[in-house]
Amino acid sequence: MKDVRSIAQAMPIEIPVAGGGAFPVRRIYCVGRNYEAHAREMGFEADREEPFFFTKPADAIVLDGAAIPYPRMTSNYHHEVELVVALGAAGSEIPVGEAAAHVFGYAVGLDMTRRDIQISARKQGLPWDMSKGFDRSAPCGTIAPAGAAGHIGQAGIRLSVNGEIRQSSNIANLIWGVDEIIHWLSRYVDLAEGDLIYTGTPEGVGPVVPGDVLHASIDGVPPLTVSIA
Ligand code: MN
Repeated sequence: MKDVRSIAQAMPIEIPVAGGGAFPVRRIYCVGRNYEAHAREMGFEADREEPFFFTKPADAIVLDGAAIPYPRMTSNYHHEVELVVALGAAGSEIPVGEAAAHVFGYAVGLDMTRRDIQISARKQGLPWDMSKGFDRSAPCGTIAPAGAAGHIGQAGIRLSVNGEIRQSSNIANLIWGVDEIIHWLSRYVDLAEGDLIYTGTPEGVGPVVPGDVLHASIDGVPPLTVSIA
């Protein structure tokens, strides 16, 4: 049997940073139902009561250019294009007004979802892990440092499949903005350098099949292309 330390060392989870260097990933958090039109297409009314969160394992990350095998245990594998926030400073109970200082940079990512498993889990009141936190479920593009690009408040966000636009919205339509997300999440858990937050998807989610090429983009950050094998 392989030494567990050598296995861990063989799998560094790092995302390239525009301009050089790499961002080592500690944890992946995701926000649910954070665009009104997407909440509606999933059968919910959006509200401002409190955001809710789920997680993916850090090694669910796949990088730009990857060919992702169609996952097993699903026949309804969906794309969700999202703004990803990379944290560069630790904090707990972070006030909204101080949240921006914890942001290292931004990327575009895909919260890949086994929709059939998610909907059946939802009906039965079961956890989302097997529908959201499975292998290779978190494609993430190169990170643009906030210092150079500035903080993102308004930016177009898009996803095309085989050149056809499937999702198109603006970061300004987030129900909970980046600062509010960091504030709420840090009330529940200690945030740290290396944490990523997938901030939720706009409307237009849908299935992908083997052979599809997904192109995700957000104005101001490097684009992300993956294919389904
Ligand atoms: Mn999502």
